[in-house]
Amino acid sequence: MDLPSIVTRFAPSPTGLLHLGHAYSALFSFEAVRRGEGRFLLRIEDIDFTRCREEFEGGIFEDLEWLGLEWETPVRRQSEHLAEYAAVAEGLRERGLLYPCFCTRKDILREIERAGGAPHGVEGPLYPGTCRSLSEDERQTRIDAGDDFALRLDLGRALAEIGEPLSWFDRGGGEVTARPELLGDAVLVRKDIGTSYHLAVVHDDALQGITRVTRGKDLYEATHLHRVLQALLDLPVPEYHHHELVCDENGRRLAKRDESETLRSLREAGESPKAVRERLGFDF
Ligand code: GLU
Repeated sequence: MDLPSIVTRFAPSPTGLLHLGHAYSALFSFEAVRRGEGRFLLRIEDIDFTRCREEFEGGIFEDLEWLGLEWETPVRRQSEHLAEYAAVAEGLRERGLLYPCFCTRKDILREIERAGGAPHGVEGPLYPGTCRSLSEDERQTRIDAGDDFALRLDLGRALAEIGEPLSWFDRGGGEVTARPELLGDAVLVRKDIGTSYHLAVVHDDALQGITRVTRGKDLYEATHLHRVLQALLDLPVPEYHHHELVCDENGRRLAKRDESETLRSLREAGESPKAVRERLGFDF
């Protein structure tokens, strides 16, 4: 019997050297290929030009090759597809699902204080909706004046348009009901980079035919919003597998600051790829 063809991906952002946590995530996604069940893609998520650096991109290829991974080419590099993300955003905007937000972080905090608080989402207080209620005239006046703005999803409108509850299948825990209210009116087009992680990742996963999105639990909450975007954009819904995060000996999640655990430093200290794989629980 033919096994279904699974398409997975590892989608790092070149903002630093890969550490053991990234290695775990990459190996986890690569499992489908190793088991002969599917394909594995690598995608470079380098839209945030304020943080991404070319040298880190080179490091990603070097480290993953050393680790024993193989991926299909050409590798998709998000910075080469900004016009696509802009077109997707424009489509949503024309449907009245995005609105310009002129608020700075400070404005948002001030408004929350003034209102005596705001509902809490996964990343702290939710956006209080200040700019959602601006009139078309007010918006245009500020745009004409050259005020910087982001574009936010009008979640209320989006959910009204979708008109039914959404869910996804998570290999870590079964059917999950999407709760996008945890993220509120999220920014889909950032002021500084002209797009956002959410928009680009949902577009690319669909475009590349990803059938199983494997990533760390730190991105679990984002999936609530991604599910809404898939519904709005009429995209296929992949299954998800949010894996555990690799922690240090104190139980703290590894981060870019943990330099001793970068793959490069482990390699330079003479560790073998096999030893690293075994340390992470991958037996090959
Ligand atoms: N580029 C994201 C990151 O490095 C991961 C995106 C994803 O797997 O959905 O955190």
